[in-house]
Amino acid sequence: MSVGQHAGAIAESPTMALNEQARLLREQGESVIHLGIGEPKNRTPPAAVEAAAAKLAGGEIKYTPTTGVPSFKKAIVEYTARNYGREVAPANVIVCDGAKQAIFNALYTLIDPGQEVILLAPYWVSYPEMVKMCGSTPVLVSAPEGSFEPRLADIERAMTSRTRVIIVNSPNNPSGAVFSASLLGELIPACEKRGIYLIMDDIYHKLVFDGAIAPSCLQFASRSIDQGNIIVVNGVAKTYGMTGFRIGWAVGPKDVVKVMANVQSQTTSCSSVLTQAGAEAALRGPQEVVEELRRTIESNRDLVVAGLAAIRGVKLIKPLGTFYCLPDFRELLGERIGSNSHQLAAFLLQKARVVTVPGKDFGVEGHLRLSYAGSADEVIEGLRRMRWALDPASSSEISFGGKSHRRDWF
Ligand code: GLU
Repeated sequence: MSVGQHAGAIAESPTMALNEQARLLREQGESVIHLGIGEPKNRTPPAAVEAAAAKLAGGEIKYTPTTGVPSFKKAIVEYTARNYGREVAPANVIVCDGAKQAIFNALYTLIDPGQEVILLAPYWVSYPEMVKMCGSTPVLVSAPEGSFEPRLADIERAMTSRTRVIIVNSPNNPSGAVFSASLLGELIPACEKRGIYLIMDDIYHKLVFDGAIAPSCLQFASRSIDQGNIIVVNGVAKTYGMTGFRIGWAVGPKDVVKVMANVQSQTTSCSSVLTQAGAEAALRGPQEVVEELRRTIESNRDLVVAGLAAIRGVKLIKPLGTFYCLPDFRELLGERIGSNSHQLAAFLLQKARVVTVPGKDFGVEGHLRLSYAGSADEVIEGLRRMRWALDPASSSEISFGGKSHRRDWF
């Protein structure tokens, strides 16, 4: 017996696979530093815990409307007005099981087999596979060498009569780049003119550094939300550190949301009433938690920038948002540490017990994605081990996991 060819061709998510690998190693007592997964380590905001617990204690754990609990959707409408300056209606909103499902649902709703979706490299690992699951073709547009921001001219060259959607993710996973207002401001009319939908994955929009505010597509749209072509995806996972709640949402034209709801009604029915209650409380509760998280991440960003600068041969474009960076290891690649990003990530895991994600999975070979969403100690220790493993001029002896390691360990 074999599985279907279509699903059989879909790759496992490398971020989720590495997360599992790190968990298993830790379970075996290994001292693993996890710079792989994008998951903030803060506690769930108390308001969210209390609301979800109260819902549970009430014992009324039932289906909700397909597109979400009305009061939660209202909170999302208010969030949209506050953060994007756009008045939308509850009919423009659909609550999904995480931003990930919202993106998949939007893609499934918008594209027909044989059509094309433009992805901007570096892109998040799941986009190409999601596009393929919809029977569509990902068309990759790379940022120019030395930059993580794509050029409008390159994007426009990739637009064909088959292009249906472009996915924009800024602040960007994996690079930490924040796309300029000028790029987004020009991209929106370019898409509008050609009837191309733009899915803005805005899950990191609050996690920006140095006092900046991330420009977002919705603010450049010349048309009303219902006449327009923009679907903004967001959620509580990254900004509130509520990854396990699996609550995200999409805000888009009513006609699109209506069909996304049909898709959802036939697949998951609705998101959990418990976690919707928690997510609503997070949106309505004290917002200091977001700023606290952002500050912690920003200070981790400074550690990563300094730590990578201390490893000879590594180049980094300073991240301006998210909790990722995408350093360039091409100068170091070779026989000892591996000749591509997959081999390099395997080398760092095996020799230094540091989990990273290969840049190849994000469409950028020779780089690794590091997540600095964890504690400062974890970030520092990860960089210390990486330097030891990568730089022959650094100390030949290091201890971790209760053991002392000499470089001749490998
Ligand atoms: N988005 C996060 C990451 O890129 C979480 C894992 C995932 O869903 O891929 O690490």
